[in-house]
Amino acid sequence: MLGKEIPLYIPKTKSWHIVILLAVCTVVAVPSSADDPASGIVDSQTFLKRNMTPAGPPASSYAAAVEKLLGQMTLKEKIGQMTQLEIGMVTDGRGQSIRINAEKLHKAVGEYSVGSILNVNDEALPASKWQEIVRAIQAEAQKSRLKIPVLYGLDSIHGANYVAGSTLFPQPLAMAATWNPELMLRGSQISAAETRKAGVPWSFSPVLDAGRQPLWSRLWETFGEDTYLATVMGVATVRGYEGNDISSFGSVSASLKHYVGYSYPTTGGDRSPALIPEITLREYFLPAFAAAVKAGAHTVMVNSSEVNGTPGHANSYLLKNVLHDELGLQGFAASDWMDIKGLVSTHHIAASEKEATRIAVLAGIDMSMVPSDYTFSDLLLELAQEGKVPASRIDEAVRRILTLKYQLGLFDDPLRGIDSKTVIGSAESRQVSLEAARESITLLKNENQALPLAKTAHVLVTGPDADSLIPLNNGWSYTWQGDRESAYPKDHATILKAIQEKIGAANVSYVPGATFNKEVDIAKAVDAASKADAVVICLGEWAYAETPGNIADLTLPDAQLLLAVKTMETKKPIILVLTEGRPRIISRIADSVKAIVMAYNPSNEGGRAIADILFGDVNPSGKLPITYPRSANRLFTYDHKTFSGEDWGEGKAIAAPQFEFGSGMSYTNFSYADLRLAPSTASGSQTIHVDVTVKNTGGRAGKEVVQLYLNERVASVTPPLKRLKRFAKVLLQPGESRQVSFDLASDDLSFIGADNRRVIEPGIFDVRIGGLQQTFEWK
Ligand code: BGC
Repeated sequence: MLGKEIPLYIPKTKSWHIVILLAVCTVVAVPSSADDPASGIVDSQTFLKRNMTPAGPPASSYAAAVEKLLGQMTLKEKIGQMTQLEIGMVTDGRGQSIRINAEKLHKAVGEYSVGSILNVNDEALPASKWQEIVRAIQAEAQKSRLKIPVLYGLDSIHGANYVAGSTLFPQPLAMAATWNPELMLRGSQISAAETRKAGVPWSFSPVLDAGRQPLWSRLWETFGEDTYLATVMGVATVRGYEGNDISSFGSVSASLKHYVGYSYPTTGGDRSPALIPEITLREYFLPAFAAAVKAGAHTVMVNSSEVNGTPGHANSYLLKNVLHDELGLQGFAASDWMDIKGLVSTHHIAASEKEATRIAVLAGIDMSMVPSDYTFSDLLLELAQEGKVPASRIDEAVRRILTLKYQLGLFDDPLRGIDSKTVIGSAESRQVSLEAARESITLLKNENQALPLAKTAHVLVTGPDADSLIPLNNGWSYTWQGDRESAYPKDHATILKAIQEKIGAANVSYVPGATFNKEVDIAKAVDAASKADAVVICLGEWAYAETPGNIADLTLPDAQLLLAVKTMETKKPIILVLTEGRPRIISRIADSVKAIVMAYNPSNEGGRAIADILFGDVNPSGKLPITYPRSANRLFTYDHKTFSGEDWGEGKAIAAPQFEFGSGMSYTNFSYADLRLAPSTASGSQTIHVDVTVKNTGGRAGKEVVQLYLNERVASVTPPLKRLKRFAKVLLQPGESRQVSFDLASDDLSFIGADNRRVIEPGIFDVRIGGLQQTFEWK
């Protein structure tokens, strides 16, 4: 094996990183509160500063080798590199009995020289099986004329979820609820190492689509509705995946998806058209991609749908001018599933697949996820021979693809990672997942301190999500839809099992009450509730991914609401636990239950994390990364523009969400004081220094997320109510207080102007943290 093995937790102290960090620090001083990483404070500003250095090696190291190879390639070989096929094109059988078909493999890799293969086996395989498959594919590549390694890609969405026994982490929406980018970084490092151990160097993650449409079936794959929070978490993921050296045993290339605007369907359904004016696209949808590209991400996957009438795969403005010229992507853009064909069948902008291929390649698609035939290769060859796609465009795409293969070290060792010491699903890695689940769970209501429950209480556990790992995980978990019970490991606790472990099975009764959408034995649940001290009712969603997850109504299904309503009639304290990938409307029951615990999809350790919170072994510290709507017909984000009636009489109650973005309670109390800004007037390259003191005034240790919101009072484009600009997660002992500091620079005050360019306008700005407000003037 060539290359050097590196430890799982990569020390981020290579000398060339330090030089760049120092350069950044001379511009804006690192806030005092975060100088010491062991200080119990993780602040977003320091985190970004420390983690914006792209992984090496730089593309330039391989420029000569790439040009030399390009010069030796035939047109057909080049087009092959731009082709990505699904695994069924080189194998027979499905599931565990999948096996390489030598003839098919030879056709794909030997004859067509395909650049990439991806998984749709739709069943997690042991790492050893993946290694066997990847070994055979790379051996075939070694037999080919130019010995170009194949780039295998896998959807590792919340861990290496297609590798059996891997560590699965809370889904991205839950990770965002931790407001802890260090945890995101650690989880992504583990995910990368476990993916590469299977022989796979490319992960189709993170999803950087802005989660601003709560109906969308992929909301839980996002980091929520806020641009800044998603930016911080996106950068953490990219840096965790790619590490310091992307050719190392523990690193994979990230793929930012789905560039851009996919997440905002007007219908609410997956893969349906979006209308996003450029001013909005640039303000809310692009920044997370821009930051992740700056942090070094090597590839993007393109939006299957359309924005403003132009399909993502035909949008040369977004793919060339914005992605490469403006954002500076060095790597390549891959299509999503069958999306060149989609230009004919879905979008109707091309009459034939050949025309669609021409449009997409000229628009900037470098690699096509075809995925189950050779049409792309055949048609692009014809187009190139007819002069309809210039050789220079093909060279550009192939150059980008070959460069990444070199950077990943595949030319040195196409199997790098397979022999690493990474232990799939180790106890240490599972502990990181448990910590992430604990930090994500968000306490939304706790009337009369109904929680934590006494461990001596007799508890009824009921509801469809109580005794299954499926809703704890959701899609992309062992299978695409994540809904096959038999695929789940047996050694992880459901919520029910975890509660039984914690307080003893004798103290727990269990009645399912309802399935996700049907009544089962509600009367029995009510009877059991009347005999219990408290009822833990586990409602929410089942598992789904992509289009199969479309819904027509955000309201929680009737059967579940009825189960809650009926058990509430017993007057026993009802503790509502929600495991769901979208904020399903619960207004019919929210006011009457005593406590509400939002658990999102906390994954395999989630049952234990929920039990830890319910019984007080862990103090909750998650905060909502989305606005939780009160009504299915009133969907808006926290950073909306002022609208008439919002703060007027009854309108106020109607407009108020069920729970606000950024909210989440603790078993202790925090107070804020001494919000100070300096200077109070500034301009140009000056920064506004912000200090605030946060104190734990309650009786137990806890973590608080200090959130800094900013708004400009008057601007040429209607200003939103407020925007999140900084945050810090702070651990405080009872009675302890800490000063937290941030700096705001001119970029933080800027917005996209009416001409679609970023602008900073002089004016009065309000800074709000924890109920305090101060003002400064920008001249
Ligand atoms: C999804 C992508 C995914 C790809 C490959 C598509 O249907 O939209 O997010 O990476 O399939 O599995």
